[in-house]
Amino acid sequence: MSTIKGSCHCNAVKWQFILPIKTVVKCHCQNCRKLQGSDYSSWIIVSQDQLEVTKGKDHLSKYVSNETSSKTFCSICGSAAYLVNGKHFPGNFVIPLGSINNYEEALAPQIQVYTPNKAVWLKLHEDEPVFS
Ligand SMILES: [Zn+2]
Ligand SMILES: [Zn+2]
Repeated sequence: MSTIKGSCHCNAVKWQFILPIKTVVKCHCQNCRKLQGSDYSSWIIVSQDQLEVTKGKDHLSKYVSNETSSKTFCSICGSAAYLVNGKHFPGNFVIPLGSINNYEEALAPQIQVYTPNKAVWLKLHEDEPVFS
């Protein structure tokens, strides 16, 4: 059993979860662009009971973006720890792939979503299933 560990940029907040995960998605939607500040975002989907915050719970702040979605982040450095997307991933946490310390093969993105919104400069990877 492999434990995956992640942290915010300043290391005040740390978390971990145990494989397996549900999936890893690359999302091209406008919400993710604005929330993460990049042209697309990669997210690990894990069951909520899998994730354990091991350090810095007191530093976590939450931004509620709508009735089913929120972003929990480090109040010191602003890095996202995990998101909730109750519409698409109820019962799960959505963890930024870039926050992970130990990249493993199991964390390779498996699907892409909101591809019609994909930035024109991103080439479609033919070997990845596409859901739009
Ligand atoms: Zn931090
Ligand atoms: Zn998105």
